[in-house]
Amino acid sequence: MRMNRVFKALLGVEHTVIESVELQAAGGGEPAGSGEMVLVVSVRAARSRASRCSWCLRRCPGYDRGEGRRRWRGLDFGSVRTFLEADAPRVRCARHGVVVAAVPWAQRGARHTTPFEDTCAWLTAHAPASTVAELLRVSWRTVTAIVERVITERAGRVDRLAGLTRIGIDEIAHRKGHRYLTVVTCHDTGRVVWAAPGRNSDTLSVFFQALGPQRCAALTHVSADGAEWIHTTVARYAPTAVICLDPFHIVAWATRALDEVRRGMWQKLRGHGKHAQARQFKGARWALMKNPEDLTGEQRTTLAGIATTNKDLYRAYLLKEQLREVFSTKGITGRRLLAGWLAWARRSRLPGFVKLAKTITRYRQAILNTLDHGLSNARAEATNTHLRVLTRRSYGFHTPQALIAMAMLTRGGLCPELPGRQLTN
Ligand SMILES: [Zn+2]
Repeated sequence: MRMNRVFKALLGVEHTVIESVELQAAGGGEPAGSGEMVLVVSVRAARSRASRCSWCLRRCPGYDRGEGRRRWRGLDFGSVRTFLEADAPRVRCARHGVVVAAVPWAQRGARHTTPFEDTCAWLTAHAPASTVAELLRVSWRTVTAIVERVITERAGRVDRLAGLTRIGIDEIAHRKGHRYLTVVTCHDTGRVVWAAPGRNSDTLSVFFQALGPQRCAALTHVSADGAEWIHTTVARYAPTAVICLDPFHIVAWATRALDEVRRGMWQKLRGHGKHAQARQFKGARWALMKNPEDLTGEQRTTLAGIATTNKDLYRAYLLKEQLREVFSTKGITGRRLLAGWLAWARRSRLPGFVKLAKTITRYRQAILNTLDHGLSNARAEATNTHLRVLTRRSYGFHTPQALIAMAMLTRGGLCPELPGRQLTN
């Protein structure tokens, strides 16, 4: 029985009986020469866990032997790959019919043990999937399939929609901007609490319906970008929630307007044959887009040059920066700065900013809400940036479900602990 205890501890499994342990050639049969050897541990469920339905875990009468012996990949012992091998009989559940019996070392339908899957999911939250695949000796398809399974299982255990009061709703582009996800973040925990493919009222309605009328009524603030469908859907399901416009998006609008001015000037100079000057404008892009505190010395010089040689472009730059200031100031001062900004933008004679002033006037109430309630944008922005980085890692995210699973793993608080680690305070 000693061996039983040692191997159970090493494999990280419980309620399991170890029948035998042997080294085999990776392809099966006796270990031969220098070929890879794998450890095969024959196991069975302890009596208390045997003959249970893999859906409801109820004890059921046996049905047949199923497809005979099966293997589950476990965590490596050192550099040796390890497999658990066991019978996979079927049982007849009164509720679920004829199903494969549950096993204590793996989740229903899994080809890997639970410690292996948890390790794989944890690693994927902390390293590129390609690294995880190489370390664990599985394909990246297996990595993403495991992540999806782990997330689905863990999501079923907790109610992530409980206790929401202040949420952010975002649309995130993936697959080179051809597809979108609608993502809901909790402002208080910073967690992604819900995500689904699509960006329209129907998609978002599914979220509000899952929330239910009582919890919809508990929502106090909803932040979003300017998308009309978000505003109308929120108004329909959570009419008492205050809608705030995300500063992140408003500043992005100003940055786009600034870039339009820069490009317009660049094209005009090229049209007049002033190629050397035009090139300077092209290079000035980053100096203009970056936040002033992040500028390099060279970019500061570029900006100083623009201030003296191109008043229009510099004015556009100041308008963008001033708008950013409105949202870092917030409150009454923020409101005053915004009024000043609108007056300035309207008479700026820069078409992009005149238009932006109109847009901002249209969303004035939602923007004032943002300033008054001071919803922190840092978390929504961090989530946004993070998801965009995820979508750029092209491998493994061919389906929106895989991307959602990754978002839930890294931003949804659903990442498992590494097996065998005691939680310490
Ligand atoms: Zn059942």
